[in-house]
Amino acid sequence: MTLLRSGSASDIGLVRSSNQDLVVETATLFAVADGMGGHAGGEVAARLAATSLTTAFNRHPTGAGLTEAVAEANQSVWEHSLEDPDLRGMGTTLTAIALVNEDGRDLLALVNVGDSRAYRFHDGGLVQLTTDHSLAEEMVRTGELTAAEAAVHPHRHILTRALGVSAEVTSDLWWIRPERGDRFLLCSDGLTNELDDAQVAEVLSSVADPARAADLLVHAARTHGGSDNITVVVVDVVVGEGEPEEGRAAAVVAAGGASLPAVAPSAGDKGDGEDASDSAVTSEVPSSRRERRRAKRRHRRMARGRRLVTVRTVLFAAAVAAVLAAGFYAVRWYDTNSFFVTVDHNELVIYQGRIGGFLWYHPVAVERTGVTTADVPATYLSSLRSGVEETSVAGARSYVSNLVTVEQQQNSAQGAPSSTAPPAASTTTTTKAGG
Ligand code: MN
Repeated sequence: MTLLRSGSASDIGLVRSSNQDLVVETATLFAVADGMGGHAGGEVAARLAATSLTTAFNRHPTGAGLTEAVAEANQSVWEHSLEDPDLRGMGTTLTAIALVNEDGRDLLALVNVGDSRAYRFHDGGLVQLTTDHSLAEEMVRTGELTAAEAAVHPHRHILTRALGVSAEVTSDLWWIRPERGDRFLLCSDGLTNELDDAQVAEVLSSVADPARAADLLVHAARTHGGSDNITVVVVDVVVGEGEPEEGRAAAVVAAGGASLPAVAPSAGDKGDGEDASDSAVTSEVPSSRRERRRAKRRHRRMARGRRLVTVRTVLFAAAVAAVLAAGFYAVRWYDTNSFFVTVDHNELVIYQGRIGGFLWYHPVAVERTGVTTADVPATYLSSLRSGVEETSVAGARSYVSNLVTVEQQQNSAQGAPSSTAPPAASTTTTTKAGG
């Protein structure tokens, strides 16, 4: 008998205005969904997918049932997107792992659509189990990009497959024989964009509690930029009764009013006695040579002070002018080195400037692409309408042409039957498991 222990964490990140990631965490089913397609769309798609996946899997908690559940989730998102114009083009990634019993043996079934990922961590080694359905990953397969280039490619987030964007979906399926000590990680791209494998492995190897490991991974991704929603599920395989002690209750919170150290009042400025007496003297008529000398010195001092103030004022004004000029050029540089793609009269247009303008700069259309909204996947329309930033015209052009490529691929793939392959030994062991 196989026992699992899990923990999860999800965070909006530092840049996004909503969290469109979602977690499924039950006793035997675990999933991550990363929704996309506008503000409402992404959240709705992820929620619909998670809900129908769970419901359908609970009806048939088998490997075939899991694949069927993904198809139902796809159906649910797709149908809702047709009903509500505000949700048109919404979709989601879906990576799910489930403990199932096939012919009397416990197996883990893993399914994937999109670019959320599943990893297996065992004996200190981290292995990615899923293959991203992204343009960048495809370019790696065809040799156009190396894996390292793909990891930082500006268009790595363009998906070639997503859940809910068409009537049918093709999901990948793997079978895994669970081994004691296995640790599985499901995550949205918000984690893997910020952390490399070594950083992920470091946390997974050093933190035993799955909930705490999930928390720490999310926290690390935030610290490294947090440019997207971050969602993590950690699933540990704990076979039989030799389950290690729960480390959870150990956290003892130190109670008691830890009073802040009192701030010592700063001593008032004393010791101006000399100046004070000096100024008292000024009102008197200098009666002796000594006093006249003293008055002269004071006068010189005041004159020097006035001169110094003048020089300081000039320097200060110059500094202010320099800062203003630097700011002006920084703003101009910031603006002229920014581009974005957006929709204008159903055509994709490349603008120079910041989305919505920046200070006194207004964006200027630099290129009408001739590509219409019908030529690109509907999933990307809402982000295109709000503007997709690029750092160069070339980058903006390539973003548009990548979208066109993906749309053409999806159109030519329409009608192809959804392959839900039988147990494939592609990635991991399928040898007989001790029930
Ligand atoms: Mn994401």
